Amino acid sequence: MSQVLVLAEHVQGELKNNVAELLAAAARLGEPAAVVVRQPGTGAQLTARLGELGAAAVYVADVEEADALLVTPQVAALAAAVAAAGDVSAVLVGTSIDSREAAARLAVRLGAAFLSDVVDLAAAPDGVRATQQAFGGAYTVTATAARGIPVISLRPNSVPGTAPAAQAQEIRLAPGPNMAAAARITARHEGQAVSTRPELTAADIVVSGGRGLGSAENFVLVEQLADALGAAVGASRAAVDAGYCAHTMQVGQTGTTVSPNLYLALGISGAIQHRAGMQSAKTIVAINKDPGAPIFEIADFGVVGDVFTVVPQLIEAVNARQA
Ligand code: FAD
Repeated sequence: MSQVLVLAEHVQGELKNNVAELLAAAARLGEPAAVVVRQPGTGAQLTARLGELGAAAVYVADVEEADALLVTPQVAALAAAVAAAGDVSAVLVGTSIDSREAAARLAVRLGAAFLSDVVDLAAAPDGVRATQQAFGGAYTVTATAARGIPVISLRPNSVPGTAPAAQAQEIRLAPGPNMAAAARITARHEGQAVSTRPELTAADIVVSGGRGLGSAENFVLVEQLADALGAAVGASRAAVDAGYCAHTMQVGQTGTTVSPNLYLALGISGAIQHRAGMQSAKTIVAINKDPGAPIFEIADFGVVGDVFTVVPQLIEAVNARQA
């Protein structure tokens, strides 16, 4: 059976929570295998964990400069894994900014197709058949890569289930071609943002706030509801531009694409550019005081009301259920 390679992203040995889904998707197409880039001496437990999640093989690239270079180590490792595996039917990555860049670069290197924003995939006689969302979810497209090994970015929460656990075999990769000319990261400030909230791109629930929150102080309401639900925090561009929250939280055409099971939009009008990043969410709940706000066109549940009245009650109700 041919292998399906999955780029297993991790933060200092902690796998990102989309890796299980990527391996489940890989199992639909062939034998799941993971590719890991790590700094030597870190992530010793990754191979066993990836086996539990279904990887029959784990290709490991120990790269001294893994944290100091942009995506080049991932591209080099994926290319080396493709060469080492021999028979590969697809390469799957998540939708983080880094993984999508790595995927596009790999596709160019392999002379293969890059299918982005895939929400479903299956093995077909003519290769891998992928269902993609195009133009911000306005169209659904079915595509098959005509030649080469397709490189696919999968939206989170698209493929249900898990892959059966496997006894993972670890295969060491040589670090690949010369990366000396690669773009380097220069750390100007030591330290790391620490958050106990789920990562935005892979979260099961996302609570987003818009200009309707009115100020950075009021935006705390969005964070309080997110914390009550165990959700990630997102925002509209207007909220980001007004300085209510960090740009990394922006959802939409020029921000992050999310595809959670539940998306709550608080004080967000629902402009097309915002919808482009969230309308594939399974269930959308909107709270807005304007009954004519476009967000209600795509909401499964809508509350016409003031966020400052509705959201505190919602937080209280959620907390009461969990008590
Ligand atoms: P508004 O449109 O001002 O809406 C605020 C909403 O809050 C209104 O519907 C109002 O009724 C409601 N409201 C006000 N007060 C309350 C209250 N107390 N209680 C309840 N509801 C209340 N936008 C993005 O989000 N993401 C993107 O990636 C993005 N990319 C863009 C790219 C381009 C090239 C362009 C041109 C625009 C882009 N935009 C993007 C901007 C987009 O067009 C909208 O301007 C933006 O999404 C509006 O944000 P908003 O809904 O928070 O603000």
